[in-house]
Order: sequence, then C-alpha cells, then structure tokens
Amino acid sequence: MINPKLLEQFVVQPGTTVSLKQFVTDWTETDNAKELGKDVIKERANEILAESRKQLDAAQELLYASDTHSVLLVFQAMDAAGKDGTIRHVMAGVNPQGCQVYSFKKPSTEELDHNFLWRYMKALPERGRIGIFNRSYYEDVLVVKVHPEWLGPGQPAKPDNKFWEKRYEDINNFEKHLSRNGTLVLKFFLHVSKGEQKRRFLERLTNPDKHWKFSEADMAEREHWKDYQRAFEDALSATSTKRALWHVIPADRKYVARALVADIVCSAIQDLKLEFPKVSADRMVKLAAARERLEKSPGGDKPEA
Ligand code: AMP
Ligand code: MG
Repeated sequence: MINPKLLEQFVVQPGTTVSLKQFVTDWTETDNAKELGKDVIKERANEILAESRKQLDAAQELLYASDTHSVLLVFQAMDAAGKDGTIRHVMAGVNPQGCQVYSFKKPSTEELDHNFLWRYMKALPERGRIGIFNRSYYEDVLVVKVHPEWLGPGQPAKPDNKFWEKRYEDINNFEKHLSRNGTLVLKFFLHVSKGEQKRRFLERLTNPDKHWKFSEADMAEREHWKDYQRAFEDALSATSTKRALWHVIPADRKYVARALVADIVCSAIQDLKLEFPKVSADRMVKLAAARERLEKSPGGDKPEA
C-alpha cells in the first residue's frame, strides 16, 4: 500500500483552481523519485499493482456480499494516455462478473435527443459491482467545449460560460445523488505530456502491430492540445468534490499510473469498511440442521462414477 500522505499530491482539493502545469506527468522525474532510481520504482510499482489486484478482487467480493454499495471509476485523458491499458491492468484480477466496463464514443442521434446525462445513467453499476467509465459525462464538458459544433441539435451554437457552469453543476448534483445512494465515485485524469503523446503516436505509426491504434482524428485533436488542457483545468476545478474527488495521475510512465490507480481504488473501497452480512442466531440453527442432514445423506464417500 502506498503511504496515503504521498497520494495527497495527486488529489484535486475541492474548491481549488487547477493548473495542470503544477501536476507532474512523469513521477520518476520528481526529487523524491530520483533518489530511488527508475529501476527500483518500476519494481516497486509492479509489486504494488500485483498486491492491489489481489486486494481488489477480495474487496469486490465483499462489495457484492454486503450489497450496500457500488463503485464507479471514471477515466478521462488525452488520446494515448493509457486509459485502456490502465483499466486492463488494474482490473485484471477481479471477477469478471463483478465489474462492467463502458466505453463512451461519439453520441448517437438518439442519445443526442436526450438530456446529456441520459446515456451514462443507463450504464451505472448496480449494487455490489465496480463500474468503469472509459470516458464519461465529462466528455460533455470537454470535447464539446473544444468543439461546440458537436453539441448536437437544440444546443446553443456559441455556448457561454453560464452554459458550462450549469453543466458542471448538473454533474456535481448527479454525483452527489450517486454518492447519497451508495455509489463510491472515483475519478482519474491520466495526465500525459504532449511529448509522450507524440512518442506513443509515433510508436503506433512505426510498429506494425500498433498501426490499428493510429487514428487521424487523434492527430487532429492534438492540434487543440491547449484548448483541451484548459477545458480539463476548468472541469477538474469545478467538479472535484468531497464526495467525488478527481485524481491527476502522472501517466508518462505506464507502470506508475497503473500502480497509483490500483492502490487508490483499493484503499477507497477498503475505507468503506464493508462487512460480510451477519448470520442471525435463527439462521445459524437452520444451517446446523442442513449440515446434519447433508452429512447423513448417502453419497460423497468417493466420487460418483
Ligand atoms: P476512442 O475512445 O479513441 O475510441 O474515441 C472516442 C471518441 O468519442 C473520442 O474522440 C471522444 O472525444 C468522442 N466522444 C466521447 N463522448 C463524446 C461526447 N459526449 N460528445 C462528442 N464526442 C464524444
Ligand atoms: Mg482515440
């Protein structure tokens, strides 16, 4: 487990104005980390990931058994920041029946004909499950803030600040509603540098096994880097709340990002202090009777042919 004090630097404190420049993209370049050296950090990060995976599987089982809460993990990032890989690695040890991943793409006309939260509401995790949003309702204050022309029919052509403030407010109210109804909401912005994105795009163009990942659309969005960073800063500032905190995860090193996310998710679920359902005295008597009956019943001495 990572020291909670160390994790504080990745949390957007509610009510603060975010400047992304103040959050590192490569944690191995920080003073603390430099002392340790990259090899030690990588080894330690992989240990943390492995340990957290085991704990996360146990935590999800308890989540299911106690049947009081669900967990919603929200992932947002620039292209090639490693959302998919992080989700894959962090959730690798969890019972597939206990988690559900939704990847949100450009909305359909049907979706655009509804309120902007509609399609996300339908995908929320039921009690006992971990739901993962690979992109989310935050796209509705990010990509469309950079490209208001993609807002869809019935929306202003040139939305003003009030328009976005109302959306942040809607999101905060929505997350408050979720939290009040037993959903633990954890939000991760995978913070990648422009230089690292370039390296990853180049890798997609160079390595034949990665060609399929390259998209001209991603290249086009790279041109809007500054607008996106500003939109992220606005969204993170307006929507990091006590009930639904934003974490800015340094994503230039994939192993760092994965270990941090795994540890934060695990600790947050453990902090719910869930318990397996207590069995009543009455029920214990019934269980003992069932056991006696089963032991007296034929069979079980050796495997049946
Ligand atoms: P990918 O995750 O790379 O498959 O890309 C999905 C694309 O869908 C991204 O370019 C997103 O910006 C876009 N997208 C997701 N949600 C929305 C939304 N609400 N409005 C417009 N575009 C969206
Ligand atoms: Mg993409």
